[in-house]
Amino acid sequence: MSSFSIVDDKYIPLYRVMWVAATPHFCGDEECQREGFYEVRLEQGESVWATMGERDSMIQALDHWQEGVDPPPGAEGDSLSDDGDLW
Ligand SMILES: [Zn+2]
Repeated sequence: MSSFSIVDDKYIPLYRVMWVAATPHFCGDEECQREGFYEVRLEQGESVWATMGERDSMIQALDHWQEGVDPPPGAEGDSLSDDGDLW
């Protein structure tokens, strides 16, 4: 598993990613070049802009990468069904 994911034709090191936008960018600016792209925030206040496909790949890569590097104890599958907390 690679620890990079391609966004905007760049290999982005996963450890530099702070967060990934859940919704596409929209600011209403007619000049905006980022409309419909997903912001991927990096350290140092940098951002790259991902297409939906690139965003999905990034999320997947982050998922796999975190599992490999730092497996959280007992955190696998969805926690809702393990909870036993039925309402
Ligand atoms: Zn904008």
